[in-house]
Amino acid sequence: MEILQNYINGHWQASRERQAIDIINPATQAPMGRVPHGDDTAADVGDAVEAALRAQADWAAVPVMQRVQPLYRLKVLLEQHLDELAETITNECGKTKAESIGELQRAIENVETACAAPTLLQSEFSENITRGIDEFVIRQPVGVCAGIVPFNFPGMIAFWFLPYAIACGNSFIIKPSEKVPLTMQKVMQLIDQIGLPPGVVNLVHGGKASVDAILEHPGIKAISFVGSTRVARYIYAKGAQYGKRVQAQGGAKNPVVVLPDADLDTTSRIVTDSVYGCAGQRCLAASNILVVGDEQGRVKDALYEAAKSRKTGYGLLDDVEMGPVISTESKARIEQLIEQGVHEGANLLLDGRNAAIEGFETGNFIKPTILENVPLGGEIIQTEIFGPVMSLINLPTVDAALEFINRNHYGNMACLFTSSGANARKFRSEVNAGNVGINIGVAAPMAQFPFSGWNDSFFGDLHGQGRHAIEFFTQTKVVIERWPKEWSRKF
Ligand code: NAD
Repeated sequence: MEILQNYINGHWQASRERQAIDIINPATQAPMGRVPHGDDTAADVGDAVEAALRAQADWAAVPVMQRVQPLYRLKVLLEQHLDELAETITNECGKTKAESIGELQRAIENVETACAAPTLLQSEFSENITRGIDEFVIRQPVGVCAGIVPFNFPGMIAFWFLPYAIACGNSFIIKPSEKVPLTMQKVMQLIDQIGLPPGVVNLVHGGKASVDAILEHPGIKAISFVGSTRVARYIYAKGAQYGKRVQAQGGAKNPVVVLPDADLDTTSRIVTDSVYGCAGQRCLAASNILVVGDEQGRVKDALYEAAKSRKTGYGLLDDVEMGPVISTESKARIEQLIEQGVHEGANLLLDGRNAAIEGFETGNFIKPTILENVPLGGEIIQTEIFGPVMSLINLPTVDAALEFINRNHYGNMACLFTSSGANARKFRSEVNAGNVGINIGVAAPMAQFPFSGWNDSFFGDLHGQGRHAIEFFTQTKVVIERWPKEWSRKF
């Protein structure tokens, strides 16, 4: 089966690594190709950095209005190839086609937002800051930047960084997840057509060896990472050790609070979408559902009905609402965590294990699962499950819910469902999380806003997307100028 090539210096070329691993369709277990994987992928990174270094200075000298023109072309190409890209995402990652299309639309929004770079790069100027002296800021590119991305959004996450990096005059190296490299391979075939000079955008495959080469290479100045907290922490620490600018987004355990005054129909629909969308493999998936007050029975029944009726299956089939999880290992891990929840004292209200999907018997399917009365002291309530599992927790007050949430070591997202403005206001102000939703189930910031995340969900300062990305991919130079009248000849 074909081994994927890297895209370096405007050309497709074979990896220096001879070993490769299979890319597996999680719904069918069918191999879809092979991706280079082994120590020699480090040499590919070296080749990509050389090309990116050669390209960067000339690219930085291109006026920003011209630098964004290829991005306009990329937007059009992404739209033209939306269907085919969405099918690739579904086949390698498992999510439904509608979810794949949604993710690509988010990618396109980021391309569009990066096209505002000519305005976003404008800077500050103070005339006569002290008598006869002017002071101003120039934003200049950082140099060669790299992105290391996870499996769960093969078509979107690279776009939180890549379009901004190149619009700001940097060159960029992207390393997709070795579990889902096909989507970025297809995206790069489009990038190949948009008229960028060779070396401005490069693609290298691989796993830990490629990542370590990126972290250690002195030619790379900035790293954007998205993945698990364990690896984010490693990237942040090692990147800093090698003197790089790093933004590292990690894992999550997202709480959603339901107050007694929430609209039950809307809430149950949105909350189950949040828990089970992308089979729970979203960093903004709701996981702990905190039901406040004495309406717990009603809320539980509504969530149970919404969860139970969700159709699980192969994501390219029309009526399917939830696909498989990414791998057999992931499925086994999630099932073991469900078992652990029961062991810790939770009641298994809805058991999605042993899901038999006709025609897809070998797929990594788990149907919607609900654990209720989950004990507050257990581990299941703190561990990122990353699968279609809802934990129902009863709490007496909003304050108790806030206290519970604010003890969590993650801080990616927290949501509240209510019809009370005062409770909403209190929640958004006091909650310890970087993305907050009020009557929203997946508080995913649009491209103009930073993809915030707090605590163990984010290591760094500036986030991906929007103005934060523009700041991350530029370094500020402050210039202080004095031009005394007496030094100038009069004409
Ligand atoms: P992961 O951490 O296993 O992998 C992410 C990337 O790191 C991949 O490119 C992989 O090749 C590389 N990698 C893996 N292990 C490594 C190691 N030991 N050393 C160096 N590099 C390594 O994450 P994943 O399983 O692909 O993605 C799921 C995780 O990503 C979840 O925890 C999820 O919450 C998180 N995530 C976070 C966000 C966010 O915005 N905070 C968004 C999406 C996903």
